Amino acid sequence: MSVIELKNANIYQRDKLILSNVNFSIERGEFVYLIGRTGSGKSSLLRTLYAELPTHDGMVYVAGYDLSEIRRRQIPYLRRKLGIVFQDFQLLDDRNVEANLEFVLRATGWYDKERISMRIDEALDKVGLRNKRKNMPYNLSGGERQGVAIARALLNNPDVIIADEPTGNLDPETALDVLKMLLRISDSGTAVLMATHNYGLIQKYPGRIIKCEDHKVICSVVE
Ligand code: ATP
Ligand code: MG
Repeated sequence: MSVIELKNANIYQRDKLILSNVNFSIERGEFVYLIGRTGSGKSSLLRTLYAELPTHDGMVYVAGYDLSEIRRRQIPYLRRKLGIVFQDFQLLDDRNVEANLEFVLRATGWYDKERISMRIDEALDKVGLRNKRKNMPYNLSGGERQGVAIARALLNNPDVIIADEPTGNLDPETALDVLKMLLRISDSGTAVLMATHNYGLIQKYPGRIIKCEDHKVICSVVE
């Protein structure tokens, strides 16, 4: 079963139609770029996938949930199957890396101190930042902060990472480091859907592309 599948979906912001008749699917472990001009609907599409925007028309399946039928109280469970990463990291600045990650685990039902600690190490290992466990966010570089945000997104073993311009605030070299983290994560079985304006990255690491244009979604592969 696909981790994401849309059939004849329409994407709205309030009552304004942003994308019409959207059809695509993403399989386990796939890495997919989401591109398109400013205002073309990338973030709207991603927000629909994590149920911040409602699905009215067509079918939207994400991590086993049918979003046209999802109840409000199920949305936190859907979100545990997703890792969401933004341009601005959104770390808690008043506590260290470990406490940032522990906060999410406790909020999602983890309570065993030892298991929490192991899980934090596993997640930080996946982004190569285990040695930064005790650092405060303001003592990390931009790339490291985004790495911690990605580790946080991985804590509950999501089926898919949804990343909205994760390299938008980073210099080109650091952006490449973050892309490599995400590519490695997709190799280990977690699908990644990444919105980006950074065509340099796509040229370096070509792959499957979904493009928002003229209220439509177009799929292609760049070799
Ligand atoms: P960018 O590359 O600048 O991030 P985007 O492709 O992510 O752009 P969206 O943010 O999805 O584009 O915006 C798509 C359209 O939806 C735009 O016309 C925008 O003005 C509109 N829009 C975005 N957010 C809202 C909102 N909260 N309420 C109403 N309209 C919105
Ligand atoms: Mg956007």
